[in-house]
Order: sequence, then C-alpha cells, then structure tokens
Amino acid sequence: MENFVVSARKYRPQHFSTVVGQAHITTTLKNAILQNHLAHAFLFCGPRGVGKTTCARILAKTINCEQVEKDGEACDKCSSCLSFNTGSTFNVHELDAASNNSVDDIRELIDQVRFAPQSGKYKIYIIDEVHMLSPSAFNAFLKTLEEPPAHAIFILATTEKHKILPTILSRCQIFDFKRITPKDIVVHLEEIAQKERIEAEPAALQIIAQKSDGCMRDALSMLDKIVSFTNASLTYTNTLEQLNVLDEDYFFSMLELLNNQDLPGVLSLYDEIDKKGFEGDIVLNCMTEFFRNLLISKDARSISLLQVMDGFRNKYIALATECSTSYIIGAMTILTEAEAGFKQAKNKKLHVEFHLIKLNYLKQAITLVSEDGIGKKKRIDEIKSVAFRQLTIREQKTIGEKIQAPKVEKPAEEPANHLPAMGNPDNKENETNNRPPLNQPMSSSAQNEAPTGGLGALKKIRDQIQNRKQEKSIVFSLSDEKLNEAWNIYLEKLAANNQVTSHSNLKQAKLSIQDETNFEVKAESKIQQQFIEGERLGMTLHLQEFFNNNKIQYIVVLDVSAENTEIPAEQLMSRKDQYLKMVEMYPIIKNMRDQLNLDLDY
Ligand SMILES: [Zn+2]
Repeated sequence: MENFVVSARKYRPQHFSTVVGQAHITTTLKNAILQNHLAHAFLFCGPRGVGKTTCARILAKTINCEQVEKDGEACDKCSSCLSFNTGSTFNVHELDAASNNSVDDIRELIDQVRFAPQSGKYKIYIIDEVHMLSPSAFNAFLKTLEEPPAHAIFILATTEKHKILPTILSRCQIFDFKRITPKDIVVHLEEIAQKERIEAEPAALQIIAQKSDGCMRDALSMLDKIVSFTNASLTYTNTLEQLNVLDEDYFFSMLELLNNQDLPGVLSLYDEIDKKGFEGDIVLNCMTEFFRNLLISKDARSISLLQVMDGFRNKYIALATECSTSYIIGAMTILTEAEAGFKQAKNKKLHVEFHLIKLNYLKQAITLVSEDGIGKKKRIDEIKSVAFRQLTIREQKTIGEKIQAPKVEKPAEEPANHLPAMGNPDNKENETNNRPPLNQPMSSSAQNEAPTGGLGALKKIRDQIQNRKQEKSIVFSLSDEKLNEAWNIYLEKLAANNQVTSHSNLKQAKLSIQDETNFEVKAESKIQQQFIEGERLGMTLHLQEFFNNNKIQYIVVLDVSAENTEIPAEQLMSRKDQYLKMVEMYPIIKNMRDQLNLDLDY
C-alpha cells in the first residue's frame, strides 16, 4: 500500500463509459460527437463532486480525437489523445472562476480565443464555478459567447445554476448532473477496492456511500482516508469510527427502550453515545432521520425513499408496523424542536436528555389522548367544577328511597387506629380486625343490613374494588353503608399521614345521602367546615374512584345552630391554590405535568 495514489485522481474516468451515474448526459454527448452536432457552449450544472469537470475533460479530449471510436469514445491512441492524457496539450484551457473571477482574468482568456489551435480541431475553454465571475467579467465574457470563433468551445460548470444570468443560459446547451446514488457509488468503490486489493466489507462501503451524499469525490477521499488508517482492511466498525458515524443500531435499541418507557435505559444509552464523542445535535439529527426512515417504511409507496444499509432495511419495515404514525410524527416534532433549540442551550447534554425524557413519555401521552383520554379529561374537569363551586348552605333534608336513614352515624365504636390503612403493606396484619363487612356493595338488598363482623371482610372489599376496576363500565351509586366505608378509608389515609386535625374533623362530620350521587356533610362549626372543605378535592377523587362514578359529589353544610353562616374568603381557593393542593396530595400530578411539559391554565 506504500504507493497508494489518491483514488479520486487515479480513478478519475478517462472515458464517458466510466463516468458513474450520469448516463443520461454521457449518452447525449457521445451522440452529439458522433453526429457532429456540437454546441459552442455547454453548461454543466449539478452538485459538487458528481463528475462535471471530469465530463468536461472527457468531452474536450474526445472532440479533438482524430479517430473517434464507433461508440463515441476517444481512441486514446492518436497524438491528440496522447498529448491530452499526458497533460501536454495546448488545446484545453481551464479557468477556476472561484479564484480568477476578475475582468482581467476573463480578458486574458478571451484574448486567446481569437487564435486557432495549432493542431486539432478545437480549442476548449473550461470555466469552473462560472457563477463566481464578477458582473463585469460576465459582461466581458458575454460578447465572446455571442459570436464565438468556429474553433472555440466553452464548457461552463456550476453548482449554482440559479446564479447564472439568463443571457448566458440562453446561449448554452444545459446539462443537469444528478447526485450519484449510493448504489452506484458502492459499485464503483467495490471496483476500486478490488483493483487495489483492499479488503472491504460491503457494509463499510455502504456507509461511505451514504455519508458521501451523492458526491463521488467525497466517497473516494473517504475511502483513501480509511484505507490508510486501517491498513487496507475496512470493516463496518472501523469505518463507522473513522467517519465518526453513529451506528444505526443505537437507534433501534433506543426505540426499544422508548417503547418500554425505560427512562433509565434511554438516558444510559444516550450517555454511552455521548461518551463516544458524538455531539448532541448530530445525535438529534440522526435520530430524526431514523424516525423519518420509520415513517417512510410504513407505506410500500414511499419505501423506495429508504436508503439504508441492506441489513437494516427489513428491520425498519418490521418496526414501522409497530409504531403508530402519530407516534412517529410526534417524535420527529420533539426532535426537530430539540435540534432548533440546541444552539441556544447552555447545557447541551441536559438539553438532549430533556427531550429524550419527553420522547420517553410520548407514547403514554398519545395513548391517553387517543384512547380513553377524552373520558379521563372530562372526569377531571367535572371534579374541578364540583370541587370548587361556591358553597350553598342547605337545610338537611332527605330525598328518595335511598335516604331512608339520612343521618348516618359514623361507626364511632371503631377507633381509627384499629383500621387497616389501605395501601399500606406494613399494616397488613390488621386485616384480621373485626370490621363491618360490606356485603355485596352493589346489591341494593345489602344496604340496610346491619354490619356483621367477619374475617377476610376487608379482603373481600378489596376484591370488590378490584373487580370494579376491571369492570369499568359498572357505576355504583351511593348507599349509607358504602359511603361510610369509603369515608373511613379516606380517614385511614389521613391518619396514616399524621393529618390528625383533618382526621378528627372529618371523623366528626355527619353524612347524609340525598340521591344516588349526592350527599351532604354536616359540620358543626366553621372550623370543622373549613377542615372538611380542605379535604374536598382528595375526598372527591377518592369517592369517585371508590364508586367508579364521577358524578359523586357532596356539599358541606354548617349546622343551623352555628352563628355565622358566611363562608370565609380564604376558604375559596384560587385555581392555582387548587393545583398546588392537588400536587401536595398527589405528587404524581406534578410529575405528569413536568414530564408531559404541560402548561397550566390557571
Ligand atoms: Zn484519439
């Protein structure tokens, strides 16, 4: 390998047939040569590194060839071809307009145009990056282009066709060069590898082709670089390393973690990528592309746009069926936002992590919205409106069948500390306590039965609650027994949280059912009323959950004997206070808010 010549130069095509990926152009040029229908000015447009200058040189050589072959290629044997191949011809002039763009540069060139070639038919002027010419240079050139001598042929090349004046465009035969497809590049690289005896895994060449973005020159220089660093043995892994390309496998792993909402896994994987030295914006960009690939893999009509390594193709297609379109688009939105804000972010890693966290909960958010989310949202709204409406003071009254015994005495004979705290595993042994069982809570016949003790009664209730959770469609209405049961469970929670005052105030309150979903809580003093109100939100949520009925609500009334029936102003909580109270009681609400990045509309 000691004499390894830079591939781009060594393997620069010498004939039209060896130009990669531009058959539409080389065929036209060969036909024009064979039929002797040559324009005096050509404009080669297209991205960099796709063969514009190479084609210009081949064209220059071929039109001066003394014995053009039948297929329109130069013979490579005549004196013109030989002098061209050795670089000693005087018939070809190249000007790089990027560095020589003044009027003087162009005048120098125009002066030469007047003289006929000493040998051969044509003098060829190749002007690279012609859009870089200054306006005055353009004008000076325009005259020559309008009336060129018969022996002069101009080949202009540009990457920016839109910058070329219309007057120039109208005088040129225009050829649009295409980006070279990764497939064409791989084939070409394989040929070179074979000739140079380079060992290269197909996957390695595919990465080079992808990374080169349709530019053969870049692909060749990448190949050169990797060959010299890897001692002419290219593997998938060392090519990824040399080109600083992120392995797509990372994203497949990332998606799996995201699907499982495995936040620690997601963050650790990102940490691993970060430690490999990949900048956050590159990671975000590659991830966006990954999701883009997933999206186009969903439909057979767009799958042709998928330009990935052979091994990954089926993986994409399989995964795409598992991801919903809304999820993919949501993910791309989050990632694009993250990319947009990356520059401004002070802590880049945190910035990426933050958006990964968002991604991690995206699926959950989409599920909430698309499935039963509407129902849940509605329920929450109702809780709000119920929980914080202004209090009305009503006289205690009884309505309907279910309130035959309106005054529900709390089972005071049951000390709270004997009650098992629901959800507290430490108190499990308390389950054996005597406790009024709630026989068949859903059956109306059970309502008036006197509570009887029994082992495992609590377990039974729990099973019933569990059953209710499973049968979400069953909605329960209030009964004295069940209401007491539910109320007491909440008291246990208060006791367990050492909310002693709230506990005792709620414990003393008297409940009376008004109809299937409404009941009244009677307070004997304003202080007691305030404490009961203070627990309203938690209690309402609890009761609605317990009865699986979002219509359950209650009012707190002050006993008529109380002197002042006005409600103190501080009792009415602002919406913000409501939120803060909710957070205090249910920290998960704040977590959800943070994770889903929700704004609050107080
Ligand atoms: Zn020749």
